[in-house]
Amino acid sequence: MNLNAPLPKRCSILIVGAGIQGLSLAFNLAERGVRDILVLDAGYWQGGASGRNGTLIRGAFSSVEWTRFFAYSNQLWHGLSRRLGENVMYSMRGYSMIGERTATAELLHRTREVHRECGIDSQLLAPAQLRRVLPALAHERVSAALHLPGSGVAPHHAAMHAYHKACERLGVTLRYRTPVAAIDRSAGRVSGVRVGEQRIDADVVVLAGGANSNALAQMAGVPLEGYPMRLEAMALEPTRPLIGPAVALLDRLCYMHQTARGEVVGGAEVAERPQDTLNADVPVMAATAKAYMEMFPQLGQARILRQWAGLVHISPDFGPLLGAHPALPGLFVSAGWCYGHAGAPAAGELLARAIVEGTVDERMKPFAVERFVQGRPVVEPGIVLSHFE
Ligand SMILES: Cc1cc2nc3c(=O)[nH]c(=O)nc-3n(C[C@H](O)[C@H](O)[C@H](O)COP(=O)(O)OP(=O)(O)OC[C@H]3O[C@@H](n4cnc5c(N)ncnc54)[C@H](O)[C@@H]3O)c2cc1C
Repeated sequence: MNLNAPLPKRCSILIVGAGIQGLSLAFNLAERGVRDILVLDAGYWQGGASGRNGTLIRGAFSSVEWTRFFAYSNQLWHGLSRRLGENVMYSMRGYSMIGERTATAELLHRTREVHRECGIDSQLLAPAQLRRVLPALAHERVSAALHLPGSGVAPHHAAMHAYHKACERLGVTLRYRTPVAAIDRSAGRVSGVRVGEQRIDADVVVLAGGANSNALAQMAGVPLEGYPMRLEAMALEPTRPLIGPAVALLDRLCYMHQTARGEVVGGAEVAERPQDTLNADVPVMAATAKAYMEMFPQLGQARILRQWAGLVHISPDFGPLLGAHPALPGLFVSAGWCYGHAGAPAAGELLARAIVEGTVDERMKPFAVERFVQGRPVVEPGIVLSHFE
């Protein structure tokens, strides 16, 4: 890739943002034969949330809508290395959702029914089974555990590298440190973008700008629900293997797994923290450490190696905003991603089909950009329960 090559004066599809959403979409478009795709990113490779996440891939949630979408994405993860021609290092180690409160146990039982309805293999673990799957867990605190054997983790650097390489191989033009400063329209539709003084004509513009999505929508003169939110993670010094599957401690909004190096990586979400800084934040580290020590007491001996934060874009119902923007023909959106690493393979494929073929897949339909003005938010009880109770 020649980073200094001049920007083209026109392209067919211009994607703003080279995070995993932008790259997955570019790959899927190119795979469908679209040519002259241009992806512009204001920052550096992996500089957004796609290079800062916990790498967990959960193939089912508590609502039918989320489960159908993320199950499809997880299925695509399984074959992604072969498709991209690079190893995304997906590890199907299973994913355990742990409930402590009675209400969460009830939710997990209802969730199991949703999974059955959607044909997902998930298991409510009896105490003896849970001891086998997660021996280091403080079992006396657990009221229910739902295990997804087909889910897992994939390191973000491997996935981002694989998407990047596949895009290059298929002729996608990628540019970093190239901020889009304006989005133009003419004759009632989107017509291109501006980078500094240069104008680039485009038939289609896609907003995949992560935490900056509202500012991008403003540039295009269209409304977009949602707001930027900060998420944090930390890595502990390596310990012997203690935690096999990926784990979600639902009552603490804490996600974690143990890497091949033995580091436990994860983080708890704490409400009301600053939204616009990547600095270390002691209250979040403390909440994460408390969750680890109460639920995996042996981690109390391990020191924190490093901590980091990233910014994501959150929609009012915490679900993705995916599809055509109703207010401006030619403008498409992939935003609202708090599980955008897990969701990238499905989002890229389904959005590419919407752009190229004009078809809106049933799994994507619930996440339409206009659902809030139409009064059709998607209720995902797992997330709403944790955030509001
Ligand atoms: C600490 C943390 C843990 C997480 N854990 C998980 C997890 O375990 N599993 C999971 O599925 N998800 C997780 N996530 C969420 C996941 O990382 C995001 O949902 C996903 O990376 C979003 O991808 P994206 O491409 O939409 O955004 P980003 O990766 O943020 O990419 C957006 C890009 O747009 C660019 N951009 C913005 N404005 C402009 C502009 N004007 N011009 C050009 N470019 C622009 C930015 O530079 C950026 O590179 C986590 C996030 C964080 C921060």
